[in-house]
Amino acid sequence: MVSWERSESIILFGPPGAGKGTQSGLISEITGKPQVSTGDMLREAVGEQSDVGNEAKAYMEKGLLVPDSIIIELIRRRLQREDASDGLLFDGFPRTIPQAQALEGLTPVSMVLSLNVPDDIIIGRITGRRTDPDTGEIYHIAHRPPPDDVVDRVIQRTDDTEETVRQRLSTFHSQTAPLESYYREKGILVEIDGAGPMGEVSTLVRDAVNRRTEG
Ligand code: ADP
Repeated sequence: MVSWERSESIILFGPPGAGKGTQSGLISEITGKPQVSTGDMLREAVGEQSDVGNEAKAYMEKGLLVPDSIIIELIRRRLQREDASDGLLFDGFPRTIPQAQALEGLTPVSMVLSLNVPDDIIIGRITGRRTDPDTGEIYHIAHRPPPDDVVDRVIQRTDDTEETVRQRLSTFHSQTAPLESYYREKGILVEIDGAGPMGEVSTLVRDAVNRRTEG
């Protein structure tokens, strides 16, 4: 038996580099809810040089948040697509209280999974992070090195330098972290220790999602 209405959405919450991108694939598989990453949507818009992309680019490169109005419009439109009818899995959204309040008018949220990872671990994770542009697969130069046939094509995100990571963390603590108590007060926050190796975090995530879905 499911303990939430099928149309309810799930939020995967946590600082940059907490492993949201990695864990969202697993949660999407368990729940069947399509993953929506505002970071990926924005990077796509930047690549296409659309109006949204051109406006978002400077904020992203500095590690600052893109204005709420742009993000809320992206999400509003995404929720209108047919595959959103059973709810979505949000990764990297909402990131401010106004975004969370806007979401309430758009779709019900059943659970906020919060990955907790200390800042010092995050810096090491992000600066070593590399992505395969062909498959979207995420690697780490020390913890999960890309295989030989992929190593020559992996790329580093332009905002994954140490200086920008420190700014992104500071943005997270000042603007995004308050959402944790916001959702705790609503009784839907589930905290997960995200500091361990990927496999261990995946087990914790799987258990948490199954506990909620099996009710
Ligand atoms: P990370 O979680 O590692 O910071 P993302 O890919 O989620 O990476 O986000 C990259 C950048 O995109 C952020 O630093 C920010 O500039 C912008 N961004 C993504 N999602 C949002 C959002 N919900 N609100 C405002 N800005 C966002």
